[in-house]
Amino acid sequence: MHEMTVIARDAATARSLLGIAPSGMATRVVLLGEQDADDVGGLPADRVVVAPGLTGHDPAALGPSLAPLLAAGLIVLDSGQPARDLAGWLCASLDLPLVWAVERLGRAPDGAIEAERPVLDGGHRLVQRLPAGPAVVLARPEPGPAPAGRPVVERSAAVPGPSALTVRPLDGGAAERARGPAGARTIVSVGRGVGGPDAVARYRRLAELTGAALGASRAAVDGGWLPFAHQVGQTGATVAPDLYVAFGISGAVQHTAGMRASGRVVAVNTDPDAPIARLADLVIAADANEVADALLRRLEREG
Ligand SMILES: Cc1cc2nc3c(=O)[nH]c(=O)nc-3n(C[C@H](O)[C@H](O)[C@H](O)COP(=O)(O)OP(=O)(O)OC[C@H]3O[C@@H](n4cnc5c(N)ncnc54)[C@H](O)[C@@H]3O)c2cc1C
Repeated sequence: MHEMTVIARDAATARSLLGIAPSGMATRVVLLGEQDADDVGGLPADRVVVAPGLTGHDPAALGPSLAPLLAAGLIVLDSGQPARDLAGWLCASLDLPLVWAVERLGRAPDGAIEAERPVLDGGHRLVQRLPAGPAVVLARPEPGPAPAGRPVVERSAAVPGPSALTVRPLDGGAAERARGPAGARTIVSVGRGVGGPDAVARYRRLAELTGAALGASRAAVDGGWLPFAHQVGQTGATVAPDLYVAFGISGAVQHTAGMRASGRVVAVNTDPDAPIARLADLVIAADANEVADALLRRLEREG
């Protein structure tokens, strides 16, 4: 397998995905939607195809127009929801295998491609030998510097086919519950430390009573505790509220990338030395749910 195609909606995402390319592999980028020429020109790829007409999120509308732009090799996307939807279409329609959560691609001594991903709470790496042939890779590259390049840039006139998707607005309370934290002045945010999906209701109530929006770490979103719209961080929303209260969130760099512009940060964490403490104005070293319940009792008593 000699070529890898990165599919991304912006040059910054493409740049980080290119960082996982194994040595000696030709690289192509397909950028969906209109792009800034300066960003595109410096991508460290051999070839960049800008497809300004390929916008929208319906994989069945995008996929057939996108497929002819891909090289016969690895197809690499990020791990966000639209990319996952598109990967599903590509795998099913082109009969390709899928590997996910890949942080690095390397080569075995015999030249085969190996995908690495974290397992067992990140303390170990699973190394998966890929079949010899095309495959779709959902990547979560480690952030890091990427070299500048000088790719051959071309434009594609491809446009999506008709879409079968419509967006239906939710009513009142349902819309409020589903809304993410982008643009909010106060955010109550939950992480793995709150324990599980059953714990989330108290934070939703806390957000309702204080007029805050509900945020989440990726661990909480990946666990299915809250929809992706609530995720804060590198691959979620970037927020800058006056107050950000982080319950049971460690403060991984990918999380703080999305909330470090907050005015005041309060961290509720059983570990007072968790990384979030470094940017918190106040650290409450206690069980998150006990603190949330105490706040709820107080707020409900005060009406
Ligand atoms: C490419 C890439 C992109 C990423 N993008 C994002 C992103 O956009 N957003 C994001 O959040 N992450 C992102 N991540 C994941 C990130 O690296 C972390 O894995 C994630 O943020 C951890 O979530 P967490 O803090 O909820 O969980 P953990 O890191 O497991 O932390 C849980 C915390 O809860 C505390 N705790 C445990 N029990 C309790 C208790 N009873 N009460 C209070 N505290 C308790 C612990 O001390 C710990 O600090 C990304 C990773 C990669 C590789």
